[in-house]
Amino acid sequence: MSARVLVVDDQEPNVRLLEAKLKAEYFEVVTAFSGQAAIEKAISEQPDVILLDVMMPGMDGFETCRRLKADRRTRHIPVINVTALDQPEDRVRGLEAGADDFLTKPVDNLPLFARIRSLLRLKELLDELRLREENAEERGLSVATDDPELLDSARVLIIAGEERVIRHISAKLPDTIKVDSEIAPELAVRRTTDGYDLVLVDLTTRAYDALRTCARIRSNSETRTLPIIAIVDPDEVARSVRALDLGVNDIVNRPIDRGELNARLRTQLRRKRYADTLRERLEDSLEMAVTDPLTELSNRRYISSRLQQAALMVSGGEMQASVMIADLDHFKRVNDTYGHEAGDAVLVEFAERLRNQLRAIDLAGRFGGEEFVVLMPEADLDDARIGAERLRAAIYDTPFRLPEDGGELDVTVSIGVAQILPGEDVEAVMRRADIALYRAKAAGRNKVVVEDKAERAA
Ligand SMILES: [Mg+2]
Repeated sequence: MSARVLVVDDQEPNVRLLEAKLKAEYFEVVTAFSGQAAIEKAISEQPDVILLDVMMPGMDGFETCRRLKADRRTRHIPVINVTALDQPEDRVRGLEAGADDFLTKPVDNLPLFARIRSLLRLKELLDELRLREENAEERGLSVATDDPELLDSARVLIIAGEERVIRHISAKLPDTIKVDSEIAPELAVRRTTDGYDLVLVDLTTRAYDALRTCARIRSNSETRTLPIIAIVDPDEVARSVRALDLGVNDIVNRPIDRGELNARLRTQLRRKRYADTLRERLEDSLEMAVTDPLTELSNRRYISSRLQQAALMVSGGEMQASVMIADLDHFKRVNDTYGHEAGDAVLVEFAERLRNQLRAIDLAGRFGGEEFVVLMPEADLDDARIGAERLRAAIYDTPFRLPEDGGELDVTVSIGVAQILPGEDVEAVMRRADIALYRAKAAGRNKVVVEDKAERAA
């Protein structure tokens, strides 16, 4: 995995040392010698990860990190604090400033590369989501670094081999968190799909191989992005590295420091919420691209593309298909007499009845205004006529209810039906269905008219 790393340290030899290590692993390296320079480089170079010295004259690493995380141009870039101080309070301070991780000097190669790889994987995922949702920030998506409610509603599953260990870990967590635990590894993996926000795994348990447990959580598509924090003994460097490579998000060393554990917990929950929000918005926007927001039927663009597809399949001899165009009669009068709200209610109710009359393989879309199109695969003209007649009756037989006790309203629909012919394009079949619809209107409305086969060639 190649990536661009920004190395920040006020001491040039430190920068050169890290630069050499990273370049040996084929990372691209950018450097800065102060907090201010780091912020400028982060904006202009858009590195994939930042290694940030904590002790610097002027703006220290904590303040630099805070500013990077407060700026929307740089807040998505993971920051690893590099510190000579091995005091838990400083780790916590860094994490609370928004740092994603920290390393202590002198920096060991294995943890360094494992942490970078782990953060790069995360960033790749978030970048992908971010790219598809460029305007997330404008649309009110925030990544507040100190949301106090983040820990309140969280559900955490502790996986450890012994009750004693589970009690010890639980005691370090805030009271507001809802904590469950599991000793049996098989069951534990299964329970992770149960809507948890985070999993804490004791990696040192002798009862089974907890690395395998982590790998299985990661390989399940349902829990692929569920945050995992592993708890290890400080001498288990190789195991920590394996864990990070397997996709564990963070490591906490024993003895467990309450402040550090909670800060790491908060970091992971914040990321999860950020990713979840991006994903939800992405799903919404994908849905919006194919759905008519009022009726929740397919929109014109989507049904058009499916019609094109169907025409190709008909031409290829793979199936037969028919099309109906349904147009509400005198709809303008509804809007004019009862207002647009009533008009919208009629359209929604019509769409609902339409859905109920369709076969499972039919696809209905709102083409515009009060015009609807239904693609009916595997339907010849007779089948299509029967379906259209059923819809016409379902509209005519029962009056529509108007909103806010506006009473009831008789609504009718006129429908034109045509079959897709091999070798013809969608425009041609839609034109024939339109002519049939016109005839239905001319014949007094509330009618189904099937295309005249004799006129197809004309
Ligand atoms: Mg320094």
